[in-house]
Amino acid sequence: MKTASPVALITGSTSGIGAAIARRLASDGFSVVLHSRSSVEIGQALARELGSAIYVQADLTDDADRVRLIREAVAAWGRLDVLVNNAGISRVIPHADLAAATPTVWSDLHEVNVVAPFRLIAEAETALRDAAQRGRPGSVINISSHAGVRPKGASIPYAATKAALNHMTRLLALSLAPDIRVNAVAPGLVDTPLTADWTQAQEVWKTRAPMRRSASPEDIAQAVAMLVASDYLTGEILLSDGGLNLT
Ligand code: NAD
Repeated sequence: MKTASPVALITGSTSGIGAAIARRLASDGFSVVLHSRSSVEIGQALARELGSAIYVQADLTDDADRVRLIREAVAAWGRLDVLVNNAGISRVIPHADLAAATPTVWSDLHEVNVVAPFRLIAEAETALRDAAQRGRPGSVINISSHAGVRPKGASIPYAATKAALNHMTRLLALSLAPDIRVNAVAPGLVDTPLTADWTQAQEVWKTRAPMRRSASPEDIAQAVAMLVASDYLTGEILLSDGGLNLT
């Protein structure tokens, strides 16, 4: 199957921020590859709803699945223009509770939040470089977190993985230019199933953030769409926290 439309793969796109990004890029004219670890029926239903879209299941802790995900994404329409590394996991651990941040927590978070995005970019490199041959650089957007920029976040291991993802973004922007642009969006609090019961953080955003609210998934999707639309920006970490960092 060939398409004249650009193609975007969004990992973790059956819920929350990823689903909003997929909907936004589809409405911007992209053919979309949806992905999740387990919600196959939701992914297939969303693919039918969006029209020019397919769904691929893959466990991003498994390197063979990472390789298969990129292969199937590229095979779907014979091209890949945009990779959004949105899938990620979090653990809520008070920062002062060092014992709770076990080696298993560190390695689980590192594998999904750092190693998986790197491996997906490596596997997609050839296809993303081909995008430049068609006239526009390939584009990678990593979804990190304000916790990777400031000393905040659900836990120290989570914040450290997002800081690593931000640094990887800049390193790869340098290595892969000019064929591939690499940027990150670093959200503050976003209203998703993951944060539905984070009442304390919700209160902070309502009372202290200059914009007086947390982000909707669509706010983050808009920031992603802005970075995708530019053919010039690379190595940027776009903090999307309603201005909380200013306070
Ligand atoms: P979510 O739990 O709704 O989505 C996470 C997605 O990641 C799911 O689709 C899940 O299938 C996928 N995923 C997790 N582990 C996986 C694995 N091993 N293999 C394959 N897929 C896997 O959460 P969300 O809030 O929409 O978060 C999306 C991204 O945004 C994450 O990277 C998260 O760290 C980041 N983020 C979220 C917030 C927030 O407030 N919600 C804030 C800052 C950053």
